Amino acid sequence: MTKHFWQEEFETLGKKDLQKLQVERLNATITNASRSSFYSKLFGKKNIQPGAITDIAQIAELPFTTKQDLRNHFPYGFLTLPKKDIIRLHSSSGTTGNPTVIFHNRHDLNSWANLMARSLFCAGVRDTDVFQNICGYGLFTGGLGFQYGIETLGALSIPAGAGNSLRQIKLMRDYGTTAAHAIPSYLGRLYEVFEAEGLDPKKDTQLKTLVIGAEPHTDGQRKRIEEMFGVKAYNSFGLSEMNGPGVAFECTYQNGLHIWEDAYVVEIVNPDTLQAVPDGEYGELVMTTLDRQAMPLIRYRTRDITRILPGQCECGRTHRRIDRITGRTDDMFIIKGCNVFPMQIEGVLMKIPEVGSDYMITLETMNGVDEMVVEVEVRNDWFQGDIRRLDKLSKTITHQIRDEVLAKPIVKLVEAGSIPKSEGKAIRVTDNRKNGLN
Ligand code: ADP
Ligand code: ZN
Repeated sequence: MTKHFWQEEFETLGKKDLQKLQVERLNATITNASRSSFYSKLFGKKNIQPGAITDIAQIAELPFTTKQDLRNHFPYGFLTLPKKDIIRLHSSSGTTGNPTVIFHNRHDLNSWANLMARSLFCAGVRDTDVFQNICGYGLFTGGLGFQYGIETLGALSIPAGAGNSLRQIKLMRDYGTTAAHAIPSYLGRLYEVFEAEGLDPKKDTQLKTLVIGAEPHTDGQRKRIEEMFGVKAYNSFGLSEMNGPGVAFECTYQNGLHIWEDAYVVEIVNPDTLQAVPDGEYGELVMTTLDRQAMPLIRYRTRDITRILPGQCECGRTHRRIDRITGRTDDMFIIKGCNVFPMQIEGVLMKIPEVGSDYMITLETMNGVDEMVVEVEVRNDWFQGDIRRLDKLSKTITHQIRDEVLAKPIVKLVEAGSIPKSEGKAIRVTDNRKNGLN
């Protein structure tokens, strides 16, 4: 019999049974969390009793946890177990203060590997696939997170690591890679290297599935990736505070990301009032772990903006879907009095065929006025053409961005490959303004 789900017993649970499981697991999580110094103090102050939850809606009565709380209680303030029981940590870079660190015991790592395997299966990956994991291994969760998921699923894993495009292409061709994971901003660059080598990934590889995530991207960018590589590209969402990848994933219907509700409680709140918003409305994603022992987190404010997509998915999974992340609450910048999210600009650019795969936004003070400079890579065949053509394209882009964000940008067209690439996730905005927000 063909298997349709990785774990049907969880993936197709009816609403009532799913909520019953969540209540049980939330009570256990509260009991467990109160062993950490952070939550024992917080629960004491707020008089929160373990076992008091009878309806999952009561989660709204619990306090939030923020990134600042994680930083303030760095490194061990959230730990519920003695160090001898902990077997791995992952941590963020911490360039702006204490890093955030998450600890796992064996149960947690098994549970994560299982969620990752479930996610990959949901995106159509099978044990017959050859899966190349093109991302950094180490403290970043994308490497080991995917690695254990691929192994749990039973596909042949190629732990390729990040960068070195020529080697990535060689691995793909040597071993007949059929599926791969990479951050979307890297794939445009990888394609340029294919082209420079006189290769076409559609003909010269056996790729059929790409898993893309770890950074915001628009549907336009996904479509471009699908066309360049001749594949289906599935959106993968996660954050290290909730393990890493394997939190929410698109299924083969590609209509939103199933968020695994047996492992997480999902809430969407208005970031100002912190009240829940109705399904379908955008707000900040708030998540609670339900199956993590070493370091449970309750009502963690992710700062990611998304919404719950109402209705059932045709695939049969009952876990609700979130829409693609439009950005983080702290991504937004204000220019000429207009609130702008970088993804609004990407959305405009990716619809223009002459535009290449990369862009960069720089905020500058010029003659005392704050300006938004948008550098846009243009396909090389276009760049070498008639100057008037470029002028016209630049005007079109300027108008379309202005129509979208209401502030007029200064658009600079540059050659493909000329925008500097960061090692990991793309940095879309640099703020060089004299007085910061304006
Ligand atoms: P950092 O906070 O240092 O970037 P993480 O690796 O934990 O470390 O990154 C998680 C964040 O990456 C998420 O909170 C979200 O903002 C972003 N992210 C992850 N996956 C996606 C995705 N599929 N779409 C958009 N943003 C994503
Ligand atoms: Zn589905």
